[in-house]
Amino acid sequence: MSAIVFGLFGLIVGSFLNVVVLRHGVRSIGGRSGCMSCGAQLRWYDMLPVVSWLALGGRCRACRARISPQYPFVEATTAILFGFIGASSLSILPQVISCLILALLVAISVYDLRHTIIPDEWAYAFAGLAFVSQFLLPLSGEFNPWWFVFAGPVVAAPLFALWLFSGGRWMGLGDAKLALGIGWLLGPVLGIFAVFGAFVVGAIVSVGILLPLPRIVRALYTLGITSADIGAGGFTMKSEIPFGPFLIFSCIIIWFATLYGIDPLEVFGLLPLTTF
Ligand SMILES: [Zn+2]
Repeated sequence: MSAIVFGLFGLIVGSFLNVVVLRHGVRSIGGRSGCMSCGAQLRWYDMLPVVSWLALGGRCRACRARISPQYPFVEATTAILFGFIGASSLSILPQVISCLILALLVAISVYDLRHTIIPDEWAYAFAGLAFVSQFLLPLSGEFNPWWFVFAGPVVAAPLFALWLFSGGRWMGLGDAKLALGIGWLLGPVLGIFAVFGAFVVGAIVSVGILLPLPRIVRALYTLGITSADIGAGGFTMKSEIPFGPFLIFSCIIIWFATLYGIDPLEVFGLLPLTTF
């Protein structure tokens, strides 16, 4: 029951997050929404989360321009995440804090995907809420007074080092700021585990995106199988892939696992680390 209430609330919040991400640093949140192509104002029945997009086949009612699937995707994702919080055994205050954290994480992911940058104030708001969450929701087991200040910096440190030593080429400073919140939310051990998981998922996805066509074509070229005009296409690995969404994906999976009594360290046979 409360999963459904939270889920419906998540649909509305997700729809709001779309507006926030779209207008951040561009224009104010207030004001009516219009079609990005023809400017036609949207009626209330065009703004129902997920439903309207599906009913209109992903196109504007007036000009038939395509509407990004990002909108229903963000709404549905937020609804599902909130639903999991609603169905958990947390009491209402931790549930509200968790939903605030999730809303920020969804907004950060989408913004990072669109602009490959994480707004400072969002990363810091997440870090602040995650710090407070240590007292309200002992997500990674018992509240640990030895770690409660240091968990954030400890998890952020490796990403900060990568940013520093690469001059920002391998890692953005925003990712380190994001990891600060992940450390406070999950604790130092699960936090580091989440960062590691993000690298693994990121590597798999990056290879999936970058490898197939250009790499294969070039490999065939060096083997003398393809002609020079196809092989010398000049593909590079420069294409920037944001790391934030991987960090957040990994963080939420681990967070939700612990929320439902699954110890990720146990799943991966790393149980001795739990003593931290
Ligand atoms: Zn239109």
